[in-house]
Amino acid sequence: MFGAGRKRYGLTASAILMDRDGIWIALVFDAWLRRSASERGAALVAPARATELISTADGWQLTLLRHSGRLTVRCRFLVDAGGRTAPLARMLGHHHRAGDRLACLWCHGVSSGDLGVTVTIAERDGWWYTAPLPNGRRVLAFHTDSDLPVAKELAGAERLLARARRQTDLASLLSTVGFQPVGNAGYCAAHSSWMEAAAGPGWLAVGDAALACDPLSSQGLLNALYSGLMAARALRRDLAGDTDAFAHYAQTMARVVDAYRAHLAAWYALETRWPDQPFWSRRSVPTRPGVAGSGTQTHTD
Ligand SMILES: Cc1cc2nc3c(=O)[nH]c(=O)nc-3n(C[C@H](O)[C@H](O)[C@H](O)COP(=O)(O)OP(=O)(O)OC[C@H]3O[C@@H](n4cnc5c(N)ncnc54)[C@H](O)[C@@H]3O)c2cc1C
Repeated sequence: MFGAGRKRYGLTASAILMDRDGIWIALVFDAWLRRSASERGAALVAPARATELISTADGWQLTLLRHSGRLTVRCRFLVDAGGRTAPLARMLGHHHRAGDRLACLWCHGVSSGDLGVTVTIAERDGWWYTAPLPNGRRVLAFHTDSDLPVAKELAGAERLLARARRQTDLASLLSTVGFQPVGNAGYCAAHSSWMEAAAGPGWLAVGDAALACDPLSSQGLLNALYSGLMAARALRRDLAGDTDAFAHYAQTMARVVDAYRAHLAAWYALETRWPDQPFWSRRSVPTRPGVAGSGTQTHTD
């Protein structure tokens, strides 16, 4: 429920809902993706952590750290699919530009007689989100800026729940479904951030490594899938001799970033009840597509 009229907005057709920490969608999808890649001839090295990257005459030399020790691999192209930290691009000296300081404080719990209801509710210092999970569980999350006092005040499930119960609609829903915090609680980065250029000679960034989305947008998985498809196309074109393929990919992703920022600003602009509160005033000026840093403070991760 966003905005003075406290309207209820449905998810857009392109929005994909996921439970970041329940991992239920990710596990199935990741397993399928890995199996498909292996069936098509990809050599899978997992679990492994990329720790060192060297540019060579014909591509890259990457050092992977496994339980059994180090492994050095050589490759012609690099695709950074390492999430928000963009580990490979970072090793090349490329850093994300952050659009804001959004953080997510969350806790898991059990609920009985769950209505299957997912809600987003704005409040003075940020916004709430709660959604059902498999096996009679539910997630409760509060999103605010990491530098605001409330981000420290709400650490832990009990404080989070106490504050949630001060929101009439949320309190009513949590009471109806009998929500009780059990299990994990935590804190994670949820801010918008993006690469100035999502590709360079011999490398591309996809998914969150290219553009990490505010969860309000529900665009993270869509972006991961779309940029993955676009990156695959760029690689195929490069292999076929198109020397502009990576530059075109970077341009495509720059347009995605502009569109994402404009849409996100429009969503936040729907909420006008607390114009003087830092969380909302920081988001009150619409971001103009194509103008890096307009409307919000930007800083480098
Ligand atoms: C609180 C929250 C809620 C969200 N809710 C939604 C939602 O409802 N809908 C939605 O569409 N999106 C949502 N998102 C966004 C979504 O989770 C991401 O956009 C999506 O997971 C990005 O996928 P990815 O593969 O690019 O990155 P990730 O899922 O972050 O995967 C990156 C992978 O790289 C690995 N890795 C990192 N560093 C290294 C290294 N050095 N070496 C080897 N491997 C490495 C990591 O272990 C990880 O497996 C949410 C995000 C947050 C923070």
